[in-house]
Amino acid sequence: METLSVRCNHCGAPLQVAENTRFVTCQFCQSSLEVKRTDSSVFTEEVAKIAENTGRMAESLEVITVQNEIEQLDREWGIEQADSMVNGRNDTRSPGNPLFGLAFAVFFAVVCFGMASFSGSFGAPGIFQLVPIGMGVFALVAGVMGTVKGQARDEAQSRYQQRRTELTRQLEALKQK
Ligand SMILES: [Zn+2]
Repeated sequence: METLSVRCNHCGAPLQVAENTRFVTCQFCQSSLEVKRTDSSVFTEEVAKIAENTGRMAESLEVITVQNEIEQLDREWGIEQADSMVNGRNDTRSPGNPLFGLAFAVFFAVVCFGMASFSGSFGAPGIFQLVPIGMGVFALVAGVMGTVKGQARDEAQSRYQQRRTELTRQLEALKQK
């Protein structure tokens, strides 16, 4: 009788099975395997996962732990995003481009200072110089603050993405075991 060389689907051990065998137990890991045949190949598939196999259970526990961690990370990030949107801290019009905001603030400030000196040259009362100067200073401060906040946001985002990639990789490694 001819024998076939197959590999255990669970532990990868080489197995010899008779040509017409349908079910076999792996001598190495005791998995119950079904021998499947296609036109071009013969392979095995685990019939029943052995519940007593604590190693495997620990493994799936680890998978669940990492999955939970990813979910929690996503949830926390979602809350943070919603929170910053509610508080108007998230400028969705120019995401990731706080420098544009700063450039605009500088431009606005220059216009304000220009107005101040222009009205000053006509001998206008002090208030007409102070208001544009105040607006210019305010624009500069707001621009700088926006840049700082934007950078903090970008940093938080890249931290989140980095952590997520890390966890996803961990999860994939666990699943491939
Ligand atoms: Zn095996």
